[in-house]
Amino acid sequence: MDLLLLDERLAAGEQPGFRARQVWEWAARGAGSYEEMTNLPLELREQLAGEVPFSSLTPVRDALSSDGTEKALFETHDGRPVEAVLMRYRDGRRSLCVSSQSGCPLTCTFCATGAMRFGRNLTASEILDQALHFRRKEPVNHAVFMGMGEPLMNLDAVLAACERLPDVGIAHSHTGISTVGWIPGIDRMAEEGPPVRLALSLHAADEALRSELMPVNDRYPLRDVLAACRDYHERRNKDVFVEYLMLGGVNDSAERAEELADVLDPRVYKVNLIPYNPTDAAFEGSTPAAIAAFRERLEARGLRATVRLTRGQDIAAACGQLAARSADAVTAGAG
Ligand code: SF4
Repeated sequence: MDLLLLDERLAAGEQPGFRARQVWEWAARGAGSYEEMTNLPLELREQLAGEVPFSSLTPVRDALSSDGTEKALFETHDGRPVEAVLMRYRDGRRSLCVSSQSGCPLTCTFCATGAMRFGRNLTASEILDQALHFRRKEPVNHAVFMGMGEPLMNLDAVLAACERLPDVGIAHSHTGISTVGWIPGIDRMAEEGPPVRLALSLHAADEALRSELMPVNDRYPLRDVLAACRDYHERRNKDVFVEYLMLGGVNDSAERAEELADVLDPRVYKVNLIPYNPTDAAFEGSTPAAIAAFRERLEARGLRATVRLTRGQDIAAACGQLAARSADAVTAGAG
């Protein structure tokens, strides 16, 4: 729900200061309506139901994968698409992937969101409402900012949302902010030290290849990004998690693995290799054999490396895919 509007309406009704906290606690525990908030006076519950919409997002579409991954497409009050995904793992992890912007201005070539028009930054409430949507279905315990958008371009709202995630059941140690290398944001995280994890979407250690895949590399070259990450590590004494998308024939050769090992200090970085979830972009995912060989090379160079489990391929779970397909559907209908 729009927490600023809630504060405003409570203040206008001269309600005691603790009411906002009461409402938030119910919402964070998965309440589905004001009606359930039995420690609030009935009159106030009715008033809020009329004045403060229970969510700042309207669900548009839900897709459930055969592996239990669930993806939701929402719309903001001004008609912007927003996506979030819940990944369910056998070990009990319930991991949310949330969006920080509607669309994204950064145009990475492998990303469905990058191909959409940029809308705007999301508010902290719009970020939290993605989590609450799934919390109303079941308890959740992990979150990553890897949905639509570059979270460090909207850091105030992202950090404000992170502050409240423990109330929803997601500890700071289980919350990750993933950046393509937006240096002002990395510097701010080093300075302020929010207690969440930092992940760098790296995808190519070679500057020219990285610029081709991620135009933001022209603005913030990888060498400067890695210097900022090292500074973050030194000041905060925290590992940096490197995300590396495995693109068949593009960045998955033995040579590319050696290049990556050359630039990463094993004392600072842990690598997570991500099998590519094909979008309509002109890339293919690497084969499992290529991913395994890449990982072995990194480990031989002393790096800690894991391979992410693939989730939700049958429901277009990669960021931007559901919104992009909806847009296609609209275009097709209009044609
Ligand atoms: S990968 Fe992230 S930063 Fe790049 S275009 Fe997609 S959403 Fe934006």
